[in-house]
Amino acid sequence: MEKKELLYEGKAKKVFTTEDQDALIVSYKDDATAFDGQKKGTIVGKGAINNRMTNHIFQLLEAEGVPTHLIEELNDRETVVKKVEIVPLEVIIRNFSAGSFAKKLGMEEGIKLLSPTLEFSYKNDDLHDPFINDYYALALGLATQEEIDTISKYAFKVNEVMQNYFAGLGIELIDFKIEFGRYHGQIILADEVSPDTCRLWDKETHEKLDKDRFRRDLGNVEDAYQEVFRRLGIH
Ligand code: ADP
Ligand code: UDP
Repeated sequence: MEKKELLYEGKAKKVFTTEDQDALIVSYKDDATAFDGQKKGTIVGKGAINNRMTNHIFQLLEAEGVPTHLIEELNDRETVVKKVEIVPLEVIIRNFSAGSFAKKLGMEEGIKLLSPTLEFSYKNDDLHDPFINDYYALALGLATQEEIDTISKYAFKVNEVMQNYFAGLGIELIDFKIEFGRYHGQIILADEVSPDTCRLWDKETHEKLDKDRFRRDLGNVEDAYQEVFRRLGIH
């Protein structure tokens, strides 16, 4: 399958149309942004790692009954995916306190939560992705109740599968963000799962192996992405 026209260029990926109107090609970039795009940089090798890691995890999820947009990995950076209508919700699951949650609640980072949490942000750059709840999503017509139920069920399943999988690699899954889309009336998992969108800490040392190294200028950013990729064992 070949790329036709550039449909969209985001912060981390380019999205191209193909000859199949139900399929797109996503091309992962090394560009990194944080804080609503205010901080910009490059993480060398990130595009290939995020592409291959997402596809690897999406295959595991498919095997566990979570439908995804994955069709076929084309090369290091490019993958053919099902073209969906993205549900404009960033779905965030947390197992430990970190980031905005820790700040908002005056907690240290890394405290194990008694149960996992699920929250929604309205995916809208102009509004800076505000935090909303199910009632807002319904009231604004962002999703139906049935879609919200399906999304929540899949999101917790994704958490269970990824927590177990990463535990086997010596990694604690602190939190993550996922996106879903509509494909011929069905809700499927779309976008990506990578160190850009997950907080991943080494289980023993608690070293951060994710984009927080870039956001917070902690150094060894490329090394962290490489380390996660190495542990996945998919080269
Ligand atoms: P952003 O838009 O936040 O800058 P990216 O650079 O990752 O993010 O751009 C990829 C865009 O493609 C995102 O807006 C994402 O919602 C969208 N997307 C991801 N998967 C699909 C898909 N299967 N079909 C259509 N759009 C998708
Ligand atoms: N996240 C993301 N994209 C966003 C916002 C958050 O991928 O636009 C991920 C982030 O990497 C983390 C989780 O969602 O794994 C929770 O992020 P949080 O709400 O703590 O926000 P942050 O501290 O990143 O502002």
